[in-house]
Amino acid sequence: MVHGQSGVRFQNWARSYGSSPEMYFQPATVDEIKEILDLARQRNKKVKVVGGGHSPSDIACTDDFMIQMGRMNKVLKVDKAKKQVTVEAGILLSDLNVELTKHGLALPILGAVSDVAAGGVIGTGTHNTGIRHGILATQVVALTLLTASGEILTCSESVNPELHRAACVHLGCLGVILTVTFQCVPEFYLQEATFPSTLKEVLDNLNNHLNKSEYFRFLWFPHTENVSIIYQDHTDKPSSSSSSWFWDYAIGYYLLEFLLWVSTFLPGLVGWINRFFFWLLFTGKTEHIDLSYKVFNYECRFKQHVQDWAIPIEKTKEALLELKGTLESNPKVVAHYPVEVRFARGDNFLLSPCCQRDSCYVNIIMYRPYGKDVPRLDYWLAYEGIMKKYGGRPHWAKAHTCTRRDFEKMYPCFQKFCTIREQLDPRGMFLNAYLEKVFY
Ligand SMILES: Cc1cc2nc3c(=O)[nH]c(=O)nc-3n(C[C@H](O)[C@H](O)[C@H](O)COP(=O)(O)OP(=O)(O)OC[C@H]3O[C@@H](n4cnc5c(N)ncnc54)[C@H](O)[C@@H]3O)c2cc1C
Repeated sequence: MVHGQSGVRFQNWARSYGSSPEMYFQPATVDEIKEILDLARQRNKKVKVVGGGHSPSDIACTDDFMIQMGRMNKVLKVDKAKKQVTVEAGILLSDLNVELTKHGLALPILGAVSDVAAGGVIGTGTHNTGIRHGILATQVVALTLLTASGEILTCSESVNPELHRAACVHLGCLGVILTVTFQCVPEFYLQEATFPSTLKEVLDNLNNHLNKSEYFRFLWFPHTENVSIIYQDHTDKPSSSSSSWFWDYAIGYYLLEFLLWVSTFLPGLVGWINRFFFWLLFTGKTEHIDLSYKVFNYECRFKQHVQDWAIPIEKTKEALLELKGTLESNPKVVAHYPVEVRFARGDNFLLSPCCQRDSCYVNIIMYRPYGKDVPRLDYWLAYEGIMKKYGGRPHWAKAHTCTRRDFEKMYPCFQKFCTIREQLDPRGMFLNAYLEKVFY
């Protein structure tokens, strides 16, 4: 008999959203999850499954039943010949990365952090960068799903292919993802090189940069022309680091947080802060070599609000120049650094922001120095307007103000996903407030 706890408070990583589920479960077996779904059906409750709780929106919140997947975290099978690994969906990628190195394997791409669960990262279309690489879900070979009725379905490109196209970016609304099989590659080292540039240079030579480095991205410092370019590429060289002493001792982080807090009283300082930190930390060249997952991941120390839309890659220049122009003509609108610009190959998943097109992700942030919210509405709305104008689609895990009407226009296969969802979950057991806005 599975036991639920009452009185547990759920909060996402950034502490920007939370909820108080009536019952909080941490099942260790599929039978226990089935029992929870039976109970939810009997009591007419909604169910929300949560992985690492890292989504910077309310997509993982519920006031009904919450299933935390942390105990469903085993590696079930490693197929060395095919270089595939099958895991329970609650495993954190940080644990999986370590486990894979024991077999000489690695995931070909990861997001910025690995304290996220296998079921969770594919749930929201997590991505990183590199135009030869798709979002993380493109590494999924197969998965199993427990539906609202208690049935277990398997899907892959050859078995239930339409379900596979839906379930690889599932938003947590199709059922409980139980297992995921990932395609891996041989373990590899990455060399990261960073160097300064300008927005004009990087936008004028975008194709060169995309071709030159397998995992190319850049950071733009809003209110300035400054850009830091980051190349990450396979290497046979041994581990090494030339990162600055300033970062090593983390003084930069503390100073930045303090100055950002001061700027909440003097918003005009933000442009100077962006300029100062670019000069202090990003004007030199740095190099760093390590195991792939240690280079993909970095330490995100600050809590922040974030938006991250994917626009068609050919709109990158126009959209960024318009964002820059908007900030220049509205000096009262402040934007913290960096605007992180990343790229991903198009795919075929029904609700992937990269569905049927190569994409550029434009990630904007506003920090919360010492937990204080900095006004961001004007920046958020200006950015959203530009992203929409250029055919953007918001990251499912991050802030946006879109509703079903927007998604119907954005996604050629939106209706197909809705039909699959309604077939699998006619009562809407796996919906929450966030998902109601998406589907109704
Ligand atoms: C510091 C930080 C850095 C980040 N970096 C990146 C980045 O580089 N790129 C990027 O794209 N995103 C990034 N994100 C966003 C993050 O990758 C996504 O929010 C991701 O979905 C988090 O995974 P999670 O396991 O924490 O999912 P959760 O937040 O726990 O859940 C996300 C969704 O998946 C559902 N879900 C989770 N597990 C299951 C399951 N087993 N069955 C059914 N539904 C399930 C939940 O119900 C919810 O709808 C970052 C977030 C943070 C806080």
